[in-house]
Amino acid sequence: MSTIAAIATPNAAGGIGIIRISGEDALSVTEKCFRSYSGKKVLDMKGYHALYGQIFDGDSPVDEAVVIVYRAPKSYTGENVCEICCHGGLYIMQKVLRLIFSLGAKPAEAGEFTKRAYLNGKMDLAQAEGVMNIISASGEAALNAARNTLKGNVSKKIGEICASLISAAAALAAWSDYPDEDIPAVESGELRKTLDKAQIELKKLLDRYNSGKAVTQGVNTVICGKPNVGKSTLMNVLSGCERSIVTSIAGTTRDVVEETVRVGEILLRLADTAGIHDTADEVESIGVNMAKSRIDTADLILAVFDVSRPLDNEDLLLLELCKNKRCLGIVNKSDLEPHFTQSDIEKYIPVSITLSAKNEESIEDIRKALESILGTEGLDFSQEILAAERQYNYAKKAHECINEAIAAIDMGFTVDAVNVSIDCAIEQLLTLTGKKASEEIVNEVFSKFCVGK
Ligand code: GDP
Repeated sequence: MSTIAAIATPNAAGGIGIIRISGEDALSVTEKCFRSYSGKKVLDMKGYHALYGQIFDGDSPVDEAVVIVYRAPKSYTGENVCEICCHGGLYIMQKVLRLIFSLGAKPAEAGEFTKRAYLNGKMDLAQAEGVMNIISASGEAALNAARNTLKGNVSKKIGEICASLISAAAALAAWSDYPDEDIPAVESGELRKTLDKAQIELKKLLDRYNSGKAVTQGVNTVICGKPNVGKSTLMNVLSGCERSIVTSIAGTTRDVVEETVRVGEILLRLADTAGIHDTADEVESIGVNMAKSRIDTADLILAVFDVSRPLDNEDLLLLELCKNKRCLGIVNKSDLEPHFTQSDIEKYIPVSITLSAKNEESIEDIRKALESILGTEGLDFSQEILAAERQYNYAKKAHECINEAIAAIDMGFTVDAVNVSIDCAIEQLLTLTGKKASEEIVNEVFSKFCVGK
């Protein structure tokens, strides 16, 4: 495999910048441009050792640097790796990287270092997705979940489920393929027990992913309500900054402003929308249409009402749109004279709270209500949590296959029919961990990584 290089630190100026080189020639490429002050050569270095010196382009000094060497297989990628730590200026890092390319290394593709770690058996696909989640973790719980995935907790759990299915499938196949041999008959009760257990374990993983998603990946959230109910004020409380323009002139928030905020451990991907109301104003109506379509596609709706004015047709239209959706009703302006109560809202949407968005302490009430709606209350992030939608989809398909196998047993189908479904479940689980994933799937996973990881 070729030797690759990329800047591993962010594409921005910083104190230190790291250029990572991986592959058989990593040390010799580095040797060609680095002179240590001690006179020691990179090629003579042991793994996990560092040298201080200078980077040279021919005879011209480029920068001072520290080179760290990792020798195969004891490195992140499993190959020889050099990390050149130079000054973190964008120009300097680019200059060193270009120099490394000129000496024989190739530009690394997105996620190629981690892909090599996977191909060299350093981690499986599920763990690799954990790496990505560690980088994107926005809070303690999300980080905890990602760390557990990287440690291999998800892979271990999936591996256990898969192993039980493989041994059940092997017993079934042996029994049905060699009827003349003295192979003990497979007890359908025993088989059923194995399948039931796998079904329960997978269901737990699926449910935990769905609840945990609000923490690990964020929830697409839309804030709705007619003009002047306090949507922008609420959004500012949530994000802790003046993100959208707050004004008492109706219809100022014209388009959808997107922002990600963390409430407790929950990550909200917020869209502040124009009020839902009929309007002749062309610009504004674009915002209104967007708001309606966002309600349809959002995972969570924060529907805001102004208690200082009686509920009107616009409020009722919003309540109708929110029916049967995951929605938190927010009865705002509790500091003013009320014209309706929370129970009027709760005829349409089950969970609502009364607060004053002007009072920053109301964020605690919102957090508690969100935790209860999204089911993150008491969720244990030290347990295994699937790390990506991809993992969820394969676990879901495996769960469906097991359901089919159970139905086949209950309906008295032949062993072959049951085995087809068990095989299907095994296939899904092996793809999830990457033990048997096609090249397309592997490429797809790593294409979502950043360059340098
Ligand atoms: P939007 O059009 O729904 O985004 O509403 P804004 O957030 O722009 O708020 C409209 C007006 O209501 C502003 O003057 C806010 O200061 C005011 N407002 C928002 N929340 C409260 C509240 O809890 N109490 C009171 N008294 N006024 C509020």
